[in-house]
Order: sequence, then C-alpha cells, then structure tokens
Amino acid sequence: MTGGPLLSAQTHEPAHTRALAAALEPLLVAGDVVLLSGELGAGKTTFVQGLAAALGIVEPVTSPTFTLATQYSGGRLTLHHLDAYRLLDEPAEVIDLDIDELIGDDAVVCIEWGEVVTSELGSDGGLLVSFVHGEAPDTRHVTVSVVGERWRSRADELEAALRTCANRC
Ligand code: ADP
Ligand code: MG
Repeated sequence: MTGGPLLSAQTHEPAHTRALAAALEPLLVAGDVVLLSGELGAGKTTFVQGLAAALGIVEPVTSPTFTLATQYSGGRLTLHHLDAYRLLDEPAEVIDLDIDELIGDDAVVCIEWGEVVTSELGSDGGLLVSFVHGEAPDTRHVTVSVVGERWRSRADELEAALRTCANRC
C-alpha cells in the first residue's frame, strides 16, 4: 500500500538533493530500505551520497551499476547500495535481491531503480524516493512516499524534517 507522498518538492542543485537525504538520515533505523527511482542522471546516486555522508561514512559513494551492490561501513549504520537496473526487464517472479540477508542488525539498504522491487518488501515496506528532471538543467522534482507499514509511526516526523529542509532549498 502506498500513501500520498510525504514530500513533493523541487531541488535546484545537487547540494539540495544531498540535504534532503541528510534530513532523512536521523530517522533511519536498521532494517530500513530506501527505493530510489528516476531516469539516468536524475539524482539517485547523489541522494545516496548525501545519506552516506550524514551517516558518517567517509568513503566516496559511486554508482553501483557495474558492481550491483556496494557495502559502506564506518557510519552510524552500514549502508548497502544496490542497483536494480539490470532487473528492470525481468519478470517479477525471478527478482530476488536477498534484501533480508543484507539488512542484518545494523544496516540500511538503498536500491537505485528500486521501484522494480517494491513487491519484494512485503507488508513491512520502505521508502520510495522518486526523481524527475525539471525544466531547468539542475532542477529535480523529488517525491518521498511511504510504502507499507514500516514507516507509519515515523511518517509525521519524517514529513516535518523533509519539509523544513525543502523550504530552505
Ligand atoms: P542517477 O543516480 O539518478 O543516475 P546521479 O546522482 O548519478 O543520477 O547524477 C545526477 C547528476 O545531475 C549529477 O551529475 C548531479 O551533479 C546533477 N544534478 C544537477 N542538479 C541536481 C539536483 N538538483 N539534484 C541531484 N543531482 C543534480
Ligand atoms: Mg546512479
């Protein structure tokens, strides 16, 4: 089940997109999954970079397109960064990213092109962050939505944090 978006806003430079991710970070707990959607260059990796920095990860985050999954440690939570691009054309029944195995006790998972695995999350769900290019070259429409039950108790707090951040962009 997907509710209405918690945030629908525009960012006007990469730093704004990273700041939105940093506003999300304090609310993340182990086991969270963040699905990122949007075409190439929309800002998915930029968002994950902001999240990693806010978690305290110093290693530079790069696109996982050719590695499929990268693990970053050293931050408040371990970050697993996945790219599901190669799964886009797969039938839903063959998609198995073993998200549960990655999560462990102290980890969160970010999945680029992650909309393809929404059904993998079960009723627990996660967050869906979508990016669409705006008319100006550096403008992106960013939408943050809750999928499933997992974020229900944190949704109001997250909405407020994201809204405060977006108002400063
Ligand atoms: P994706 O992972 O969706 O393919 P990236 O984050 O790798 O996208 O690339 C986004 C590109 O767009 C980067 O070169 C970034 O500097 C640029 N960019 C310009 N404006 C923005 C913005 N508002 N938010 C995010 N990225 C932006
Ligand atoms: Mg990317």
